[in-house]
Amino acid sequence: MCGYNVDSSKGITQQNITKQFDSAMDQLDGISFLKIYTSGSFLDECEITSDTSDHILKRCADANLRLLFESRPEYVITERLDRMLAIHDDLEIALGLESSNDNVLRYSINKGFAVEDYEKATAVLNAKGIDVRTYVLLKPPFLTESEAIEDAKATIAFAAKSSKTISLNPVNVQRGTLVERLWRNWAYRSPWLWSVLKVLRESDTKGRKLICDPTGGGKERGAHNCGKCDEVILDSIRAYSMTQDRSRLGSPECDCRETWESVVDVEGYVMGGTCDLQRFFRKHRA
Ligand SMILES: [Zn+2]
Repeated sequence: MCGYNVDSSKGITQQNITKQFDSAMDQLDGISFLKIYTSGSFLDECEITSDTSDHILKRCADANLRLLFESRPEYVITERLDRMLAIHDDLEIALGLESSNDNVLRYSINKGFAVEDYEKATAVLNAKGIDVRTYVLLKPPFLTESEAIEDAKATIAFAAKSSKTISLNPVNVQRGTLVERLWRNWAYRSPWLWSVLKVLRESDTKGRKLICDPTGGGKERGAHNCGKCDEVILDSIRAYSMTQDRSRLGSPECDCRETWESVVDVEGYVMGGTCDLQRFFRKHRA
């Protein structure tokens, strides 16, 4: 489902990264929290060398900024963290766990690591006093809508044990991916916004922060409903992410809720898999 490789370039040097970071930093003012998205692993020496991260950390320390970056768990190594903490100790590290079910990690996501690897990494981070943010994926391919909801809820409860913040990320259909191919063949539908609401409402967060900002929300390739109720729900999800107040999660009256309920009830029996009947009928009626 991830199409970042399509947009990445092999020609980027460490000097390019440092320069890009410096020019962005020079334009920033009055902030206390900086998030750096490398669309990869910040802790992977092949992507960001220690010299480059030393420079970035030093500037964050000088500016008194909390720094967040992402990494796969296998790069969470004590030596590298110690080197970083010696320069700057206000860090938050985001790990893409996606699912706490090893079968989903292996067969739906092809993630390349197991839940155990995530647990080892969070143990190291927690011991070092570094805050953990965990990404949870909603509706990887080959799960029904209902299975996807249950998987995300279970993953959030699991991640809450070792994370300060959990970010729920509904799958969006990106270019050049297997998910796109399934989607073109009517064999995949990105999650309903009703499902996003259900997961946000019902998950056991153990008092941790749960946030969600669906990429491509309301669009055919992103988490969406019927088109009429999408914006209201997306606004309510944003309000919830900011306030953590579940009463802000909106439930407008909309006919599509019934369709969604039927999908959740019967999809597993009827299809033995997933499909996007709603889009199929809409296209073929038109
Ligand atoms: Zn609707």
